[in-house]
Amino acid sequence: MKHNYIAGEWVEGGPAAENINPSDTRDVIGLYARASQAQALDAVAAAHAALPKWAASTPQQRADVLDAVGSEIAARKAELADLLAREEGKALTDAAGEVMRAAQIFKFFAGEALRIPGELLASTRPGMSVEITREPVGVVSIITPWNFPIAIPAWKIAPALAYGNTVVFKPAELVPGSAWVLAEILSRAGLPAGAFNLVMGRGRDIGDTLLGDPRVAAVTFTGSEATGRKVAAACVTRPGAMAKFQLEMGGKNPLVVLDDADLDVAVNCAINGAYFSTGQRCTASSRLVVSAGIHDRFVDAMLAKLATLKVGDARRAGTVIGPVVDAQQLEQDLRYVAIGRDEGATLAFGGQALESIDGQPGYYLQPALFTGTSSDMRINREEIFGPVASVIRVHDADEALAVANDTEFGLSAGVCTTSLKMAARFKRELQAGMVMINAPTAGVDAHVPFGGRKGSSHGPREQGRYAAEFYTSVKTTYLQP
Ligand code: ADP
Repeated sequence: MKHNYIAGEWVEGGPAAENINPSDTRDVIGLYARASQAQALDAVAAAHAALPKWAASTPQQRADVLDAVGSEIAARKAELADLLAREEGKALTDAAGEVMRAAQIFKFFAGEALRIPGELLASTRPGMSVEITREPVGVVSIITPWNFPIAIPAWKIAPALAYGNTVVFKPAELVPGSAWVLAEILSRAGLPAGAFNLVMGRGRDIGDTLLGDPRVAAVTFTGSEATGRKVAAACVTRPGAMAKFQLEMGGKNPLVVLDDADLDVAVNCAINGAYFSTGQRCTASSRLVVSAGIHDRFVDAMLAKLATLKVGDARRAGTVIGPVVDAQQLEQDLRYVAIGRDEGATLAFGGQALESIDGQPGYYLQPALFTGTSSDMRINREEIFGPVASVIRVHDADEALAVANDTEFGLSAGVCTTSLKMAARFKRELQAGMVMINAPTAGVDAHVPFGGRKGSSHGPREQGRYAAEFYTSVKTTYLQP
């Protein structure tokens, strides 16, 4: 059994949870401890106790730790990708890409630790100067979802440590394997005991401690909108000082295809954006907004391409679409397929669950494409989080923009066009944190800000040097010599 890591020790105790392979539900990857409330409290106390030491560490010490973690992740790419694909179900090539991204993020923040900036301004008062510096926020609770089992933890843990904070990390209960390996790597990287703590288990069991303890200064969360709201409420209603919080939640990302688009580019963007990683990305292109002049050709090409996508065991060569992550998510995907049909949409492809593939019982789903849909349908308003996309036919660019922005979410939005004028217009008018021109809505660089607008996100951006906004607290010092 794999244990929690608290105050520099692997702590035994607590009930165990099975980590199941969604590509073959007979395969139990391992047993992972579920932290108790008391252990969560110990982890917060340990992070709090370690704070003065780690906050006083030199930029070089922090850089060395993060660089070592990045190097080890990269060196173990094949093994970690296999584990990730096995526990989460994304195809092995995608899993390998995710592992490398985690390595790059640690390397990037190793560099950032050496570049923590400040400012020195002249004061409006004679002789005085004003210095603006960044200090660690304090203890950061990190709560992550299952869909990126190593990259999302990396893009929260690396900046937290780079800026001198200490960490209590709670991964999603479905994917403790990648989180545990990452914790094991961190445990040998040269951090003082307590600077990094791992508590596995369910949010509803230990969330109150991770959010409500007054020693926790900041909470960074990625997950569903419903849980995000609970996290926000807990951060502001707890006794004492409120916690600083950052939320990354859902998306209902549009990919607009205009009449002048390159058809191959548009289809590749749509297939990748909507279905790769089994559609289980908050940046997935779930709404394909297609203008009338290219609509029929686009749909025909999508159907031809969908028929070639191999669904199967995430770790088998040739698999493009792995299984859905678990039974509950599969049920949700199938429910939305039924809702789409009831709403009058045409199920043009897929949407059927397959109980087994090659004799392996798993949570397999044929990727689904709806056509003949409208913006007011639930399948175009609510996040499904599976390999299900819908085509919304529009007359022209004006209607495409209106439909693309007709959503409560605002994470990523794309447009396929060969017109520079249209590209510039959509870049300006799409209401999203990230705009993709002739590129899938999902799939981002590791060194630039990530995040959304409207109902998708709350608080400062993640990743790149913008991460400093969340993981540091600004101090303004007035100095009269
Ligand atoms: P998903 O199921 O898509 O990962 P969730 O929002 O359910 O999205 O979960 C995201 C993360 O939030 C997980 O690590 C989960 O354990 C955690 N979580 C769930 N409920 C709570 C809660 N009440 N307090 C804190 N964390 C929670």
